[in-house]
Amino acid sequence: MCDCIPSSQRSRGELHPGWLSGGRVVHPDAPAGGGGAGLFRLPGSTGTGGGSALLPHPDAPAAGDLDPRRLDAAQGEVDKEKKRLPAPVVERESTQTVQGMTVLLLPDLQGVPGVGSATTLLDESEGGASYVHDKGTGKVLTVTVVPWKVTIQTCYGTGDANADAAYGRGTTDDDIKAGRITLGFHESCHRDDLIAYLKQHAPPTFAEMVGKPKAEADAEIARYKTASKAYFKAARAHSEAVTDETGKPKRSEYLAAQAAAKKK
Ligand SMILES: [Zn+2]
Repeated sequence: MCDCIPSSQRSRGELHPGWLSGGRVVHPDAPAGGGGAGLFRLPGSTGTGGGSALLPHPDAPAAGDLDPRRLDAAQGEVDKEKKRLPAPVVERESTQTVQGMTVLLLPDLQGVPGVGSATTLLDESEGGASYVHDKGTGKVLTVTVVPWKVTIQTCYGTGDANADAAYGRGTTDDDIKAGRITLGFHESCHRDDLIAYLKQHAPPTFAEMVGKPKAEADAEIARYKTASKAYFKAARAHSEAVTDETGKPKRSEYLAAQAAAKKK
């Protein structure tokens, strides 16, 4: 499950255009070239902190009394916004064969209950092994191995694909520089690294069982099932590691901060 920062908490809609001059955040009363004399305190002298990019209305009394770091933070938000790329979406189903498996990329779903902001799911079905044996000898005559059918689909719940990703991919320095900052981009990374994992790792194989006793084939089927389950679990874990546990913040850091905030 992945999270985003609701657009209502983002600063871009809240920055009055009066702050912007040719794409630069400057006080409307400042002389050309930057902060004007008398309108800004020295850094560190206000105690307002630089963490928030939200600025008061340019005509508000507080606007003449701002920590310059807040202007820098607002500038960072404006720069980020200019580069923002729209969220990638999957609109049509597509099929590919990966390592003998049929992999279906399904269209994004919206308004799915119980998934939080969004999630990208990998599910396997229809695969498995079976055999036919000779009732007289108890030996295996033929084996049928059906390759797994894998579906990958992004489901949005309360989240909006075009909202900012809250952690992981979408929040790394490179992603921000490139304008890839949305939850939808984050989910596209999950789709990509799930498929990459399947391409780079061969699924479990079923041992040759023809001529073997039935009991051996039963044990092999059980082993094959367990190994297949572990294989797809590893694909999901890989995706979490490379798409969630990176960036600023990583998912674990984000969740720890949320848990700490709840305790307060
Ligand atoms: Zn994620």
